Amino acid sequence: MSEKILVVEDEVKIARFIELELKYEGYEVIIAHDGRSGLEKANSEDISLIILDLMLPLMSGIEVCRRIRQAGSTIPIIMLTAKDDVSDKVMGLDMGADDYMTKPFAIEELLARIRVALKRNEADVKVEGLILTYQDLKLDDLKRRVTYKEDIIQLTKKEYELLKYLLENVNIALNRERILEKVWGYDYYGDTNVIDVYVRYLRSKIDQKYDMDMIKTVRGVGYIISNE
Ligand code: CA
Repeated sequence: MSEKILVVEDEVKIARFIELELKYEGYEVIIAHDGRSGLEKANSEDISLIILDLMLPLMSGIEVCRRIRQAGSTIPIIMLTAKDDVSDKVMGLDMGADDYMTKPFAIEELLARIRVALKRNEADVKVEGLILTYQDLKLDDLKRRVTYKEDIIQLTKKEYELLKYLLENVNIALNRERILEKVWGYDYYGDTNVIDVYVRYLRSKIDQKYDMDMIKTVRGVGYIISNE
């Protein structure tokens, strides 16, 4: 089954060029020329990945990305930026995009990044159908959605992966090095402080919001979700 890629790009020539290249590589391609129809197609079609230009008519790429993530989807999104605008990239990544490319780009590089993003996502859904719970919190890994009772909790990709790793290891104290390796990967060059930052995000979105004491600090070690 070929994977379906949505290309949201208002410059018709660029959209057409990407479409032809992707089709040549064996992907199915859907095109949208403005932000609003891009969002509609992202929601209605069975898409594996989105290539999203940031400067779009009707709705900006940033807004499209924000709304897709708000709905709880963790579909891979690669942003295209027309200029080397750092603030746009940061904003896009903050809104939950996985990667970005600055135009003009080499098509081979885009294809390589698509393969990486799809593979990463495929690895994520191997535990298909898995549902992890803690009290009234539910992580549905098939839908890649976290809920507390009826509320959908909006998490970034890293927040989600960190929460999932902690929930998969309930009652096991996880040290920072292990968390970093599992959630951020071997090729991550930052230090373990990033974990504390993300635990803080999770606590503010879950523990504090719903008055829980889910993620506990294990002094000198790391973190644990304990149900004992
Ligand atoms: Ca554009």
